Amino acid sequence: ADEIPRPIEDLVAALEQTAGARKALPVKDAVVHWFKMDLRCADNRALALAGQKAKEAGVPLICLYIVSPQDYEAHLRSPVRVDFMLRTLQVLQEDLAKLDIPLYVETVEKRNKIPNRVLELMEEWGASHLFANMEYEVDELRREAHMVHDLSENGKAFEVVHDSCVVPPGQLRSGSGNQYAVYSPWFRSWVAHIHDNLDLLELFEPPAKNPDSARTKFKKLFDCQVPDAPKNKQLSQEEKKRFRALWPCGEHAAMDRLNKFCEEKIGKYKDKRNIPADDGTSSLSVHLSSGTISARTCVRTARNRNKTKKLDGGIEGIQTWISEVAWRDFYKHVLVHWPYVCMNKPFKPEYSNISWSYDEDHFQRWCEGRTGFPIVDAAMRQLNHVGYMHNRCRMIVASFLSKDLLIDWRKGERYFMEHLVDGDFASNNGGWGFSASVGVDPQPYFRIFNPLLQSEKFDPSGEYIRKWVPELRELDDKEIHDPYGRGAGNKAKKKGYPEPVVEHKQVRERALSAYKEGIESG
Ligand code: FAD
Repeated sequence: ADEIPRPIEDLVAALEQTAGARKALPVKDAVVHWFKMDLRCADNRALALAGQKAKEAGVPLICLYIVSPQDYEAHLRSPVRVDFMLRTLQVLQEDLAKLDIPLYVETVEKRNKIPNRVLELMEEWGASHLFANMEYEVDELRREAHMVHDLSENGKAFEVVHDSCVVPPGQLRSGSGNQYAVYSPWFRSWVAHIHDNLDLLELFEPPAKNPDSARTKFKKLFDCQVPDAPKNKQLSQEEKKRFRALWPCGEHAAMDRLNKFCEEKIGKYKDKRNIPADDGTSSLSVHLSSGTISARTCVRTARNRNKTKKLDGGIEGIQTWISEVAWRDFYKHVLVHWPYVCMNKPFKPEYSNISWSYDEDHFQRWCEGRTGFPIVDAAMRQLNHVGYMHNRCRMIVASFLSKDLLIDWRKGERYFMEHLVDGDFASNNGGWGFSASVGVDPQPYFRIFNPLLQSEKFDPSGEYIRKWVPELRELDDKEIHDPYGRGAGNKAKKKGYPEPVVEHKQVRERALSAYKEGIESG
């Protein structure tokens, strides 16, 4: 494992090699913060550092965001996610304008043109220093490493800092000095590390107001408008209305949601978090994945409500919620240490040889919520309608696709990214790896979710199914989980609800053999 090339190492090396030059570089006419997945003013490390640099030198801070259709495509950003980000940019632009800080937004079609364009803009503005928060996907780490060198050669400084995780990747090591591949010991180490380094929960203040001269000197930048979504990412009018009501954007909406969740729900989180019909989770993933709130703020706020001030003690709901936010850090650490998961490869190489079924009809039925398995169909329809799916259901549908339908988990992973409002590469890849038993800390492959038992256990009265599968609304609490197996087939058929596409017991055996054969031949 130590032989694996890790792009983060190149970035760290680039930062070290240019450290002296960057430190010695005098500030020119402006300092720039480049927003990416950190669309907020509050508690944003790179933005705070950029603001500080500008303030000390008495020059304006300029903020930059680049819309790149090709980049959105490469990251499989869903239209609902792009809409959320562009709306958020408008909020951000208004907030920054109150501080006389411009947020300049420009479209750069091709992603490989971005570094050059950033450099040109810096030249145009007379800016000497660029700040950004680190992103952990392979392409971004590579790009940033090149940019650190290029900017340095052009007499500029590029500071790239950790911000997205509470504990930066690379800091936690098992007793034998290795990266953890199992969540529980990793989590114990995560908690202990934060308890020993409480500054990791420090709040970064928003930047100070720009000098008055900024308005005149950079007048054109204040006039810049956030563009519409690129053509391939546009929503219909109906979708815009629906999604905008569902997903209020921006950091103020994020803080309101966090505070409301902590006020009203966090105490009961442990008991409620697995019941999809209950609105018992925070719904903050859209904000965490777009960076309209920081994971630090989430953990700090929750911890402050816990009398013990421990991350793993006191009120159970708070502990459990913090441990869920930690999963997000965990998967980012995994991505940084095993970057090949970014390249369509399973974490465990021995799982590369499974003979998947490429039944397009089955896949389409799964996508559309027409498998004849009510809990699966409810969940997929929830995803298609609101751009979000409850965590329990994400596990159920992922297991169903990869085990019951024996369809390559990567097709499901991609479909999720293309439809989720909270699509995040590391968490999505981690969740699929776990559920399809090909990832880090996985569900063992021979433990296969039974969709019927999952349905009865986590949606006992069928409330969630009734909400998303109207054809089954009139069935009673028992029939609804398995209409055709419980004598309610006629009622279901009349309403057009499909019969199950597979027989669970049978396909369970098929999956067991396919996984076993795949591993043995791997
Ligand atoms: P809460 O329960 O309130 O949790 C708070 C926060 O903790 C979440 O917002 C999220 O940032 C983090 N979190 C919670 N559970 C997990 C987890 N298992 N893994 C990683 N982070 C977690 N989450 C994403 O943010 N983006 C994805 O693309 C994504 N894809 C997934 C795919 C599969 C197959 C599975 C099983 C899980 C996936 N998750 C993903 C994790 C999880 O389902 C969502 O984060 C969660 O449902 C979001 O709802 P919430 O904000 O109400 O979560």
